[in-house]
Amino acid sequence: MQQVKEYTPSERKGHSMVRIGDHLYLWGGYQPSLPFAHDSEQKRTMSSRIEVYHLPTGRWEQKPTTGNPPLGITGYATAAIGNEIFYFGGYCNHDDCYHNSLYSLDVATLNWRELSFTDTHHGPMMKSHCGMIALQLDDGEDYLVVIGGGGPHPSTRQMDSQYSCDVLSDLERTNEVHYFCCKSNDWISPAITGDRPLPCDSFTLNSISNDTAILFGGNELNNKVYYCQFTRESASWKQLHNTSMGQWPMERSHHCSALIKSSVAGPHLLTVGGKNTSDSWLLDVDKKQWSEVSLPREVHERREHSLCTWSLSPTVHWIIEFGGKREGLLGAVLNDTTVIELIYSTEKEKWFSNVIPSDRYQERLRARALNENNVNAEDGGSEEEEGPTFKRLSCQALIEESVAERRRKMQEGRVEKNCCQIL
Ligand SMILES: [Zn+2]
Repeated sequence: MQQVKEYTPSERKGHSMVRIGDHLYLWGGYQPSLPFAHDSEQKRTMSSRIEVYHLPTGRWEQKPTTGNPPLGITGYATAAIGNEIFYFGGYCNHDDCYHNSLYSLDVATLNWRELSFTDTHHGPMMKSHCGMIALQLDDGEDYLVVIGGGGPHPSTRQMDSQYSCDVLSDLERTNEVHYFCCKSNDWISPAITGDRPLPCDSFTLNSISNDTAILFGGNELNNKVYYCQFTRESASWKQLHNTSMGQWPMERSHHCSALIKSSVAGPHLLTVGGKNTSDSWLLDVDKKQWSEVSLPREVHERREHSLCTWSLSPTVHWIIEFGGKREGLLGAVLNDTTVIELIYSTEKEKWFSNVIPSDRYQERLRARALNENNVNAEDGGSEEEEGPTFKRLSCQALIEESVAERRRKMQEGRVEKNCCQIL
C-alpha cells in the first residue's frame, strides 16, 4: 500500500514557534518563495496562514488566519500571554524596510490585531533580531519587554540607550529596553541599572520567572550571559562570569534557546546551534553552570531555527526544533522537525539526551506516559509542569497499550535504547 506523506511546512529561517497548550504555532520567516515586496498578493497569501503542530500526535496542519498580518515577516520577536501570541518588529524582506509594530494573534479565533503600528516616533526603533518576553510585574499587570536588536538609523532614540553602527550593513544595533503595557497599550522606558549589555542583536532572551529573564550570546559574536530582573520602574542587569572556570560555550549568534522548567532539576536553558557553531549546551540557571549536550550533528549544525519545550513530567522534556539554515553561503534552508528528548535521572543527578525518531513518536509518547506514572509515584514529582494533555494521554495510553505489549517491547530492548549521556 502506498504511504501518504504527512504534511510538513515549507523550509524557512528567521521564524519563531510558540507553544500554547497542546499546540505549537509557527508563522512567517524567510522562505525561498517569499517575494521581495512591502505588501503584495503573494506575500499576503503566505503571511495569512499559520502552521500548527499538534503535540499529542506529532502532526503538522496549515490553517488560514483572518485580519491583517504583520509586514515584518522575518526576524521578528514573539511572546505569548494566555491565548494570544504577540509579534514585534521584523524585517519586511525588501530594501531597508524594518518594523516596530506590535500585533497579536488570538489562537482561538486565528484573528490578527494591530496593537501598535510601525512609526518612527514611538516605542522601540524599527528593528529585527531583538528579544521579547512576557512578564507579569509587581503591579499585577501583563507587560511585554522588548530588548536590543538592529535596524536602520533611528530618527528618535531612547534616552540613555546606546546605538552602534555596523559598517558592513550600515545598520545600527541597540541595547534599548522598552515595556509595552498590555492594559494601557503604551510604550514605557524603564530605568536601567547594573551590568547593561552593549548594543546587540541575534541573541536569545528567555523569561525564567514572572519578573526575570536570561540573555545569551548575540552579535558582535559573544558568549556572555546576563540575568535581568524587572520591576514596573526598572530593569536591573547582572552579568554571569565564569568564575569557577567550568565548561562554557563558544561565541555565537543566530542560535536558539528554550527554557526547561523542572521542579526536580531546577530551571535549565537549552541552547542549540548558531552562527559558526555546531553544538548544544545546557545552562543550570540556579547553579549557573554550563554542560555540553550530546546530540547528532544535523540537529545543531544550523542557525535561525526555532525551538519549543514540551514538558511531559518533571524529569522528561521534549524540545521540538523546526527549520533554520545550514552554515555557509550555500547552506540549505531547512524544513525538518526534530524532537529532542532530555531526561533527568534523579538517581544519577545527570541529564540524558536523545532524538525521537519521527516514525516512533506515538510509541515513545505512550512509553513515557507509562514510565512517568511510575516515576511520579516514586519521587513525588510536582505535577506543575505536566500539561493537561499529558495527564489525559497517560490514561489513554494505559488503556490503549496493554501490559503484555509493554512487556514485549521491553524484552526487545526498544525502550530507553537511544539515550546518550550528556558529556
Ligand atoms: Zn516594507
